Amino acid sequence: MSRKKKMTYVCSTLLLSSVLVSPAMAAPSEQRAEAQTQQYATSAFISHAELSKKLKQIDKSSQGQVQVDVVGYSNQGREIYKATVGSGDKVILLQSEIHGNEKTGTAALLKILQQLGSNSPEAEKIRSEVTIVAMPMVNPDATELNRRGNDMSWSEVVEDFPQLASASPSWNYYTYTNQYWNYASNPGFDVNRDFNPDLDYEPQPEDFPNNSSNPGWYITPEAQTVRDVYKGLMNDYGKVDVFVDLHHQGEYYVEGTDDKVTLSISGDFIPDPDSAEGAKYSEYADTYDGEFSKQLNVAAYNALQERGNSPFDNITLYPQNLDLPGTALGSFALNGSGAVLFEVTGQTQSYGQKKIGQLVKVVELGLYGIIDGITSGDVYSINPEEYDDIPLTDRDQDYGH
Ligand SMILES: [Zn+2]
Repeated sequence: MSRKKKMTYVCSTLLLSSVLVSPAMAAPSEQRAEAQTQQYATSAFISHAELSKKLKQIDKSSQGQVQVDVVGYSNQGREIYKATVGSGDKVILLQSEIHGNEKTGTAALLKILQQLGSNSPEAEKIRSEVTIVAMPMVNPDATELNRRGNDMSWSEVVEDFPQLASASPSWNYYTYTNQYWNYASNPGFDVNRDFNPDLDYEPQPEDFPNNSSNPGWYITPEAQTVRDVYKGLMNDYGKVDVFVDLHHQGEYYVEGTDDKVTLSISGDFIPDPDSAEGAKYSEYADTYDGEFSKQLNVAAYNALQERGNSPFDNITLYPQNLDLPGTALGSFALNGSGAVLFEVTGQTQSYGQKKIGQLVKVVELGLYGIIDGITSGDVYSINPEEYDDIPLTDRDQDYGH
């Protein structure tokens, strides 16, 4: 870590705190205020209404190749969509924006749907080998609020599940207020801790409030909708071969370098059910396939490295050795899906739409690495140990703004 970098970090931290403590002391010249607004602008990302319109257009222009369905509704009644393209027997489920302040994945999915619905020979080849199911913007209430949590109160959960009347609200229930959000007046849940590897689980009061190393409960309509699509695919195809979840993170460096991370990836969300640490998941030992998750990650990584020396090759591993069974990735990995996490740099509330073109492109290229690897079958011959050669992320030091 260079001294220069450290100084920059300290300055920006101080700047941020002075804004927090006393906005009046933040020397808000017009110019400065303008720059700030620009930095946090998000209008280049699409709203739920625009998503609805865009999906309709894609459905129509693809002449039947892309089929769009409403598969559920958010707690505030917004449509949750599933777009299916291809007729191959390998199934790839792609999901975006389960955190509403993590928006590049939705744009990348729309681009991919448009391309795969076209008449190009590449698209035809992919469609014949795989079935791609995209669920863009699965937490639209959070999207509209540009925040992580959905828009739902604990009393609404109890209305849906009266057996929880005596239970404490789950640990992932947000009621705080900070400079970005007011969950106090408008509470919500981290939907990506509401999954359970038991896809038929029904909420029980003794399983609350619980904590991050235990499964979730499917108390939110958004997680229920994703679960229902997953179960439907398992019924129709026997298994969901691949599940990719598209997120954003803070701003970090590639370990041991001065390069800013563009994207972190991972295939590790729960301890291997065959290991001592993973013994609590032993009932999933036969379905879990950690090696395949590693192969898929390497396929994404290699596709990006092929772009040569550019931001596209600043790809790192997300922190490893996690135990997060309440995430969609953790739950679905236990059910046998090869699982891949994408974490694009910069949360939208603090990073805005900076570098949006480049960051959407990195997601698109990484996803094609996986899709092409499944289509050609090459992914199955990747040495999973290559996963461990992907650089780590230096998370001790973010580069702020
Ligand atoms: Zn996220």
